[in-house]
Amino acid sequence: LAAYFEDLGGSVHTDYEVKRLDDLPPARAYVFDTSPTALARIAGFGGHYANYRYGPGVFKIDYALDGPVPWTAPEARAAGTVQIGADSGEIGAALRAASREGRAPDAPFLITVQPGVADPTRAPAGKHVFWAYGHVPNGWTGDLTDAMERQLERYAPGFRDRVLARATAGPPELAARNANYVGGDIASGAVSGLQLLLRPRLSLFPYATPHPAVFICSSATPPGPGVHGMSGHNAAKAVWRRLRQA
Ligand SMILES: Cc1cc2nc3c(=O)[nH]c(=O)nc-3n(C[C@H](O)[C@H](O)[C@H](O)COP(=O)(O)OP(=O)(O)OC[C@H]3O[C@@H](n4cnc5c(N)ncnc54)[C@H](O)[C@@H]3O)c2cc1C
Repeated sequence: LAAYFEDLGGSVHTDYEVKRLDDLPPARAYVFDTSPTALARIAGFGGHYANYRYGPGVFKIDYALDGPVPWTAPEARAAGTVQIGADSGEIGAALRAASREGRAPDAPFLITVQPGVADPTRAPAGKHVFWAYGHVPNGWTGDLTDAMERQLERYAPGFRDRVLARATAGPPELAARNANYVGGDIASGAVSGLQLLLRPRLSLFPYATPHPAVFICSSATPPGPGVHGMSGHNAAKAVWRRLRQA
């Protein structure tokens, strides 16, 4: 994508945190792939997005393993992604604990990924990389490692014996790595109630902002996270319509 963009005359700059609109050169349009909160700060929009709500955070563990995850279920051994929850009751309780009750779940619902199933070059021969995350309250600072590994041991007995190294990251660490993950919310905003689709605020023009040349295109805009690329696609169309009017 970057090469295609450069072929069209664009240039890509990385390792630069935009703190103010003035950091950017003059342009007809600025499209921010940021959280609404950050955009309000950068572009001086005050409380324009003050009603925007953030959802639960996540706690993520990256593993180096000395063998594949010893799943009991043969189907799980061949799957790129394995989601762990005993039943809808347990999954619901875990998500409620993190999003409404302000506490970490005892039996977290886990999303796990074993990239080596599709790409064996991710780890040296015979070794494996693996990662998992579970939901925790926004901004939570505890350690979910033990609860997560208890869940993994339920479905993959002997998992802990395969761990060579682990790197953990809770909400503060995730937010430090990516400013869009406010309080560790990897969906850049609660995906519930009206905000499921009406984000970042109730508006016929969700990609527009109080500044005529500034637009927002992150997963904080429709159709939201989980529909990768479409927020940017829609925002680009909104920019195009605005430029044609000018
Ligand atoms: C571990 C993990 C697993 C996930 N799994 C899934 C999944 O299975 N399915 C799914 O649909 N989604 C998943 N997601 C969520 C998905 O990654 C996000 O919804 C999606 O990437 C959001 O896209 P975005 O363009 O809004 O923001 P991002 O992809 O976060 O891109 C925003 C970029 O802007 C940069 N940035 C922010 N502020 C500034 C600034 N001021 N100056 C300069 N740069 C800035 C950030 O560093 C980042 O690089 C997962 C996320 C994580 C962390």
